[in-house]
Amino acid sequence: MAQITNHMPTAELQALDAAHHMHPFTNGHELAAKGARVITRAKGVWLTDSEGNEILDAMGGLWCVNIGYGREELAEVAARQMRELPYYNTFFQTTHVPAIALAQRLAELAPGDLNHVFFASSGSEANDTNIRMVRTYWAESGKPEKQIIISRKNGYHGSTVGAASLGGMSPMHAQGGLPIPGVHHINQPNWWAEGGDMSPEEFGLARARELEEAIHELGEDKVAAFIAEPIQGAGGVIVPPDNYWPEIQRICDAHEILLIADEVICGFGRTGKWFGSQTMNIRPDIMTVAKGLSSGYAPISASIVSDGVAKVLDACEFNHGYTYSGHPVSAAVALENLRILDEEGIVERVGAETAPYLQEKWERLTDHPLVGEARIVGLMGSVALTPDKDNRAKFAADPGTVGFICRERCFANNLVMRHVGDRMIISPPLVISPSEIDLLIERARLSLDQCL
Ligand code: PLP
Repeated sequence: MAQITNHMPTAELQALDAAHHMHPFTNGHELAAKGARVITRAKGVWLTDSEGNEILDAMGGLWCVNIGYGREELAEVAARQMRELPYYNTFFQTTHVPAIALAQRLAELAPGDLNHVFFASSGSEANDTNIRMVRTYWAESGKPEKQIIISRKNGYHGSTVGAASLGGMSPMHAQGGLPIPGVHHINQPNWWAEGGDMSPEEFGLARARELEEAIHELGEDKVAAFIAEPIQGAGGVIVPPDNYWPEIQRICDAHEILLIADEVICGFGRTGKWFGSQTMNIRPDIMTVAKGLSSGYAPISASIVSDGVAKVLDACEFNHGYTYSGHPVSAAVALENLRILDEEGIVERVGAETAPYLQEKWERLTDHPLVGEARIVGLMGSVALTPDKDNRAKFAADPGTVGFICRERCFANNLVMRHVGDRMIISPPLVISPSEIDLLIERARLSLDQCL
């Protein structure tokens, strides 16, 4: 059997890929007909494919490569940890230094009294953990009826059965009998698509008040928690009106509802501060983190939990955990990633320099005939494509057709952007330079022109 390497012809790699590799969120037949683009290596914000093309990755992988590709320090830490202690579990009265050190560091970085860390390997697993945590918390607090979790349509919380149930993606609910019982979805604060004649402020308040209406309808004694992303990412980078989050916080406080901030995308500098909760000024009881926690170099995630919630859970045996909870290699890699983010001032630079530079150019995209609104917070941004921006109109074609074409144009122009329906989105590595931002905008404009 010949060894499969980067040096094989692209067509052969594509054929083997099509024969044996099932891709997530992909129509296998369509991909096989076209052939997947084979990525061979990466450095900074740049990917290289098997044909030698250099591609500007304006998505940071899947919103995760915050420190950029190719940092040797992380490879060295991983190798060192693998030699010293490649694996040990944290289940049965044992622990190890990488898990202790990472938990301590996350408690230091996280806002407020979020001082306790439960590890998993992916954002989905961490959100599954949160479902059981909040339900167990109320059961152990003498309120076993408080079990319903409220979340949002078009929110994304992962792909496991539990996390996808929390998410509000109807194509995911349509497969496999989702959602699980005890999850209730309210509408999202997407003013551009759903605001109608309301001002953003009227709409922001109305959508936040849907949470209160749902609590009244379901019964305050039945609702355990509300989960949301500070800024919806996979739903299309939906930035809520300014008054949305303060009202949500008020409602959670008034009705004894735990607030879970899903920071899987927003965490670790993406919004210009360490956490999206700080940017949106909210006080969650639990934060979900993943992706930027290790910049994608190793799979690791966590639920970061408040003193109050942890106190209750610590008093019982929480029957939950994963073989790889606190995996020592992933934890060591994550710690090194956090050291780099901190010591190189990357998060502060995003807030003070990189984000304002990108924002000015990004928002100017509204001068393009296809672009309606252009929204950006920190380094996560989106543009809504429209045939008629004055009326916030939708295209006559199936939703997403124009977005898909635009994404394909970007990819052909060696720029990775994603589309969610007819919104184009970016989330580049936080280390992107001003000249790389210029190139990103230039290629995005060229691709948009090619969609006219
Ligand atoms: N939560 C949010 C906000 C996400 O964006 C994602 C993934 O994109 C997840 C959870 C799921 O994370 P994972 O794919 O690591 O399971």
